[in-house]
Amino acid sequence: MPGRVLVTGGTGYIAGELIDQLLAQGYRVHTTVRDKAKHEFRLRAGWPDAGQRLQVFETDLLGDAGWAEASAGCDAVAHVASPFPLGVPRDKDELIVPARDGTLRVLHHAKQAGIKRFIQTSSAAAIAYGQPGRHHFDYTDWTNLTTGVPPYIESKTVAERAARDWVAVHAHDMVFCSINPVAVFGPVHDDDLSTSVQVVKMMLDGRFPAIPDMGMSVTDVRDVARAHILAIEAPAEKVRGERFPTATRFLWLSEFAAILCSRTPELAARVPTRRMPDWVVKTLALVVPAMKQVRGELRNVREVSGRHTEDVLGFTFIDPEQTLADTARSLAAHNLLKR
Ligand code: NAP
Repeated sequence: MPGRVLVTGGTGYIAGELIDQLLAQGYRVHTTVRDKAKHEFRLRAGWPDAGQRLQVFETDLLGDAGWAEASAGCDAVAHVASPFPLGVPRDKDELIVPARDGTLRVLHHAKQAGIKRFIQTSSAAAIAYGQPGRHHFDYTDWTNLTTGVPPYIESKTVAERAARDWVAVHAHDMVFCSINPVAVFGPVHDDDLSTSVQVVKMMLDGRFPAIPDMGMSVTDVRDVARAHILAIEAPAEKVRGERFPTATRFLWLSEFAAILCSRTPELAARVPTRRMPDWVVKTLALVVPAMKQVRGELRNVREVSGRHTEDVLGFTFIDPEQTLADTARSLAAHNLLKR
């Protein structure tokens, strides 16, 4: 019979889809938010039939308050919450401290509550960076921090490493694994858009005058959530210590544009077709912080294989063209595109 799962960061994109799937499958869900007064009503409105099967707790990754209550009675944790900003903070500890110390805090309270299964939402950021000249990665690879990587990438790498080290020392009987998504797209639940989905929105809204010569690997939020649930349900020996990248194909942004134009032509009037010269990207990066990350990715293929996850967890990922089309349609259905 489905049990009770703590999903951290209930306001988030991935957590929202995960809660949706868990409730649909009969699980009871505890979720955490930083401001209960602000968010509980909205969460309850999203799942009006959940009743007592959904409970909302107020916690922050930076403090202990509320975590014991949120963990009590749960069979598993999906630790999804972590800062995921569009820009780059001045101080990298704004990301690293909540990512690393927050994960250790949630692990500690999970152990205190006797929880035996812990799924960490890590990232391909912990797999595929800091290795110039390499373009293809899989679940065995680790980001190399010695070369200097952007703060978000460092935060995810440090948090996953810290979690694995902590479990090895403090919780031998806890079954721990990570889900490592590449850039996540797919249907949205509300107007609080994740950084990855904002790329598609900006493209559909005509916010890119032209397309930089960069790309990213794509995964679907429905597959990311499904991987979490399969990792909760799988026999312990199958998932203990595992890393599960969720990823389909690497696509250039020009391919994103072509897919949006062919699969959702009614929404694609503002999608750019011209290529942005590299010198424009480099100049913009001097003044627009978000463009610094684009500059670093110019002409770079960075592909992470999700094959291991499909093989071990036993499912097939949604085709990325379908994912991008569903992202666009869902943004339109929620009236989130510029008219
Ligand atoms: P999101 O929508 O921005 O959700 C992030 C969640 O983390 C929010 O619920 C946020 O709460 C919470 N959070 C941030 N700082 C916190 C703090 N100090 N205390 C408590 N909660 C805090 O992002 P997402 O796309 O769903 O990402 C969820 C997870 O997936 C993250 O761990 C991210 O690194 C990982 N991931 C995402 C992608 C992607 O492309 N989307 C790819 C790979 C991995 P508030 O609402 O209060 O800010």
